[in-house]
Amino acid sequence: MKNALVEIDGDEMTRVLWALIKDKLLKPFIDLKTEYYDLSIKHRDETDDAITVEAAHAIQRLGVGVKCATITSNAARKVEYGLKHLHMSPNGTIRAILDGTVFRKPISVSSVRPSVSTWKKPIIIGRHAYGDVYKNAEMVIPGKGTVELVYTDESGTETRKLIMEMPGPGIVQGMHNLDESIRNFARSCFMYALAEKVNVWFATKDTISKTYDGRFKELFNEVYEREFKDKCAGAGISYFYTLIDDAVARVVKGEGGFLWACKNYDGDVMSDMIASASGSLAMMTSVLVSPSGVFEYEAAHGTVQQHYYRYLKEEKTSTNPMALIFAWTGALAKRAELDDDPALKSFACKLEQASLQTIESGEMTGDLAQLAQPAPARALNSWEFIDAVEARLH
Ligand code: NAP
Ligand code: MG
Repeated sequence: MKNALVEIDGDEMTRVLWALIKDKLLKPFIDLKTEYYDLSIKHRDETDDAITVEAAHAIQRLGVGVKCATITSNAARKVEYGLKHLHMSPNGTIRAILDGTVFRKPISVSSVRPSVSTWKKPIIIGRHAYGDVYKNAEMVIPGKGTVELVYTDESGTETRKLIMEMPGPGIVQGMHNLDESIRNFARSCFMYALAEKVNVWFATKDTISKTYDGRFKELFNEVYEREFKDKCAGAGISYFYTLIDDAVARVVKGEGGFLWACKNYDGDVMSDMIASASGSLAMMTSVLVSPSGVFEYEAAHGTVQQHYYRYLKEEKTSTNPMALIFAWTGALAKRAELDDDPALKSFACKLEQASLQTIESGEMTGDLAQLAQPAPARALNSWEFIDAVEARLH
């Protein structure tokens, strides 16, 4: 490796697998260079979460990070780990600093078929993670009356728009988004699509929401035309806009293999649909792409708490390490791309291939053993699975 990447360690079962992956699948093969940040819940608490902020700044500095799953503290965790305080979700803190969009992509293996028979290639979801219904204001309207939107500018001038002359009791909701956040969302999507060499689909309901969704359509298109049209043409990538209901119909009939850029709510709903139709949460990669061009790779799942308690009782659990392995290969491949390091790129690719071929040859953890056709004779535990990948890699 020419340059280091940011390594963010985490909690519970994923922390156990993290160390195992490094020892068995990385260090024997490459001269691994990382700047290490321990985001275990105890260390975050000891540093009053300063370590999380430092890790995010390190990603901005070095350009690439890889993150293990981390516990988001709550009342039960406060007691369990004897914490001083409850802290914000580490992912929330890092996302707020990097201002990113989260991309989730299923890891496909030939023995686990998606529920949708026409899908031949994975569908990647790019979810805008700011605003809309997630940052709304809602009210119960108790009875007859007028409901309006009111904007007061800095000089105090009001602009009003009638929502409804309410004939009786009901409900009302107000929400917003920001031009700059929408532009950054579009930029992240096109940058990701260029890196992955996939076409981009974006959809809203602009026929009904002419101003709100219309603004999303307009800004997405503006970013494409001004900043990415030439780069996309050069890379053979197309941009396709349609209505959200049309997109859903096309997704289910299509072959997959594109980036589906989704507004916040659409991304929330559709990413769970894609994940469950594609197999397992442990077969899903996740990367945060910042508009400034820095990347953080992680697993889409959490710390697999219940498996960890069984591990503490000395059980060899059958926790699937694929999403963690792919977080590493994603980060190493990106480091290789930025550093123009073909040997490192080739290693990342070989590790992915060895992992996929191990599963396709019938050696897999329990979550996949339930789904695979043909079903394997038995499910491997995590240690056996990683040993099998290591043997194949050799
Ligand atoms: P989880 O870690 O996603 O696990 C939920 C269940 O999904 C597991 O019990 C397991 O089902 C299955 N599963 C998830 N990953 C798996 C894997 N790699 N291999 C096999 N099965 C897997 O969610 P959780 O246990 O509810 O949450 C634990 C902690 O993770 C929480 O403290 C939460 O704050 C944190 N979290 C962190 C992140 C992140 O850092 N990105 C994301 C989400 C949650 P079975 O028990 O049926 O085997
Ligand atoms: Mg959801």
